[in-house]
Amino acid sequence: MAPGAWAVIAILVAITLIVGPLTTLKIISNRRKAAEPAPPADLLEPLLRLLPVLAQLPDELRERHAQRAAQFLAGKRFVGCDGLQVEDDMRIAVAGFACLLVLQPDALRGGLFPAVKKILLYPDAFLVPVTEPDEFGLVDDEPQERIGESWQGDRVVLSWRDVQAALAGDEVNVVVHEFAHQLDDESLTAEGAPNLPDYARWAGVMQQEFERLRRQRRPRLLDPYGAESPAEFFGVVTEAFIQRGAELAQHHPKLYELLRDTFGYDTRDWLWPAAAPSGA
Ligand SMILES: [Zn+2]
Repeated sequence: MAPGAWAVIAILVAITLIVGPLTTLKIISNRRKAAEPAPPADLLEPLLRLLPVLAQLPDELRERHAQRAAQFLAGKRFVGCDGLQVEDDMRIAVAGFACLLVLQPDALRGGLFPAVKKILLYPDAFLVPVTEPDEFGLVDDEPQERIGESWQGDRVVLSWRDVQAALAGDEVNVVVHEFAHQLDDESLTAEGAPNLPDYARWAGVMQQEFERLRRQRRPRLLDPYGAESPAEFFGVVTEAFIQRGAELAQHHPKLYELLRDTFGYDTRDWLWPAAAPSGA
């Protein structure tokens, strides 16, 4: 080997020794950056792009919403399932919907959905084994299809396809449904209620509306699934409040006013992309 070749090898080794660690450092710093909460100023734009209805919130509430979404993103781990690659917009959309339920000034006294450590995102509806016996005491050996779940310990499980449908204005909003269950679990009041300053009013309106849904053969607005239990009713009416505010206010005014006072804002003027006039 010519003496010059050693010099070339020495230079190549030196480049590898210097550039290699630098590249590794860059990867580590990018990872750190991704794990840190985006400051609310950076979140306002994507939140508004994904959830244009946020423009209807008063400025103060929109700021608070972005702060809580940042806290949510910093504290919860997202896990893609069945090959789903979790992207920033997915995390922001889930955080954006969930934090609509905690906008009251004192909503975080117990923490921000403290039981939830992980959000499992599936590309679409997923199958879960049935463990609960039915009314005859039998456990089905066929797994059931679900679009969301929130009863298992530290996680909420969601179908991304159904989150997207909610973003477009579908009447089903699996995120607010599952996170309403979380508020229900956190609360010290009876099943089917968040923590409340005025439980008597809540119980009066909810009981009446729950009975009404159970009696109706073909409910016009509320998902009949809400008739299963007070807990499911709370999930279902929360979905209607977020996705169908105007119709809820028209057909169930007391229920609408109760949810408006509980969550702290109006939704009757909210227009979802699918319902908005094109070109507007
Ligand atoms: Zn449910």
